[in-house]
Amino acid sequence: MTVDVTIVGAGISGLAAARLLADDGRSVTVLEARSRVGGRLHSAPTAGEPGAASPNAGLDLGATWFWPGEPRVAALVEQLDLPVHTQHIAGNAVYHEPGTHPGPAFGRPIDGNPLDLPAFRFTAGADSLTRAMAAQLPEGTLHLETTVTSVTAAPDGTLAVHTDADETHHGRHVILALPPALAVRTIDFDPPLPERVAGLAAATPVWMGAMTKVVAHYARPFWRDHGLAGSAISHIGPMRELHDMSGPEGTPAALFGFAPSTGGTTPTGDQVIKQLVELFGPEASQPEQLLMADWSNERYTSPPGAERLTAYQTYGHALYQQPTMGSRLHWTSTETATVNPGHIEGAIASAERAVADITARLDSRTGQSDNTKPTTAPTGANQ
Ligand SMILES: Cc1cc2nc3c(=O)[nH]c(=O)nc-3n(C[C@H](O)[C@H](O)[C@H](O)COP(=O)(O)OP(=O)(O)OC[C@H]3O[C@@H](n4cnc5c(N)ncnc54)[C@H](O)[C@@H]3O)c2cc1C
Repeated sequence: MTVDVTIVGAGISGLAAARLLADDGRSVTVLEARSRVGGRLHSAPTAGEPGAASPNAGLDLGATWFWPGEPRVAALVEQLDLPVHTQHIAGNAVYHEPGTHPGPAFGRPIDGNPLDLPAFRFTAGADSLTRAMAAQLPEGTLHLETTVTSVTAAPDGTLAVHTDADETHHGRHVILALPPALAVRTIDFDPPLPERVAGLAAATPVWMGAMTKVVAHYARPFWRDHGLAGSAISHIGPMRELHDMSGPEGTPAALFGFAPSTGGTTPTGDQVIKQLVELFGPEASQPEQLLMADWSNERYTSPPGAERLTAYQTYGHALYQQPTMGSRLHWTSTETATVNPGHIEGAIASAERAVADITARLDSRTGQSDNTKPTTAPTGANQ
């Protein structure tokens, strides 16, 4: 069977593209390597805690926020009726600096909190967005645990997408909804991608692909008792930047920090606890849960050496805005976006752009034998 569009990756950009296409009555197949959807939206369950506001509250190991002025995320939140809350920013930030040599490092509260901007959070975890989107796709669209290994131009004019399970999916168009650097490192293309395109993709950094996210879940947001916002900037590390990641009214209580992955080295639990105590005091020594996600070690996010990719000016490059392989292979992923690249918003924008291009191309073939746009929309999508 040949579908209108085969999508490689069920992160937010792949799912956004699938949703738009399905809503428009196009046939879609989404192939996802992991056993879950969401990609860089991934939330761990909060360990049982008496009085938790929501037993489903998720601790975000990937993306956390969306911001005012991001209309695409806001529209999806409304359509999917997702609970959201505002980022806690009240209180003082902490500046983490070396002590008097060779004394211990210490955290110094500063007046106010210049580190946090007003932002929104997904109360049930950021991946509640992608889980809800996946649940509304027409049945049979999504194939989990299906890793794409190659894309080949087939003699019938379609693109044949091959998987590690030795399956082949034919699509009139294909969307690469994964970081471009990962795509060119892990997927073979026949004929090969034009050199300029392959070179661009290989040089494009994976947004946050060289970052470890640390999440410490506590029984209560004790730092707020001391007038602290839970945010910190550190010149010592391993975490360089920290924020409050609590649920509404501080439940579940959590802090998170970003630690740059240096050559794939993940900080140890002891290093992280030591830093949390220096920043927020002795109560920080006993988290209920301490979680770490090193995205540089995630084989379906970052190619090896992701920390060495620094050409951020490649984001939203003109070559990503046009298809290749006979105008049938398209790019999405946040890295290809011309607006808000790096953000969830950018990933959705990239999907909108690719889908508009594909539907125009499919429609321009109206009357040709390969246009099989159904006359009725599939049920379930965007309703
Ligand atoms: C730690 C961290 C914090 C972040 N914080 C924020 C934030 O607060 N706000 C914000 O807006 N953004 C944030 N981001 C960025 C945000 O998560 C991304 O912009 C967005 O999730 C990217 O979506 P995507 O669809 O482009 O790519 P991805 O989410 O990477 O999706 C790609 C998908 O393709 C799949 N895949 C890979 N290879 C294959 C293959 N060969 N075959 C099939 N499937 C494959 C992957 O498993 C994945 O599901 C953060 C990211 C991280 C890692």
